[in-house]
Amino acid sequence: MDINDKIKKDEELTPELFKIARQKGTEAPFSGKYWDAHDRGMYKCAVCGTNLFSSDTKFDSGTGWPSFTEPANLANVELKDDLSFDMKRTEVVCKKCGVHLGHVFDDGPKDKGGKRYCINSVCLQLEKKD
Ligand code: FE
Repeated sequence: MDINDKIKKDEELTPELFKIARQKGTEAPFSGKYWDAHDRGMYKCAVCGTNLFSSDTKFDSGTGWPSFTEPANLANVELKDDLSFDMKRTEVVCKKCGVHLGHVFDDGPKDKGGKRYCINSVCLQLEKKD
C-alpha cells in the first residue's frame, strides 16, 4: 500500500478497515498483522498516512493487539471519552482524519509512563526502517 498524505475515501478502504476505522469496530485479538510484529519503523495511519506510533514504544502486552506506551507525537492523536458497551474507556482517534484507532488504558509498563495504547492492526501501516 502506498503511503501518502491524502485522506482515503470510504470506497478506497477495505471492508475491514472501513468497519473498524470508520465505524469504531475492533479486530479479533491475535488476528491482525502487527500484534506480533517486531520490525523497526513508524506505524502510520492506514487512512491518511499520519505518523502515529514508533516501533520504539511497542511492547508485548499479551492482548493480541499491537500495544504502545505513547504516540510518536501527542499532537497527532485525539483522546475521547468512550462510554459505549457500559464501559468507561478512552478512545484513540487519528487527529488528522478522525478515524477510530483503538483505546488507551492505564495498565501499561510502569517504568514507561503506565499507558497502554491498544491499537487495531488494520488501522496502521508500518513504514519500516533499517
Ligand atoms: Fe488518519
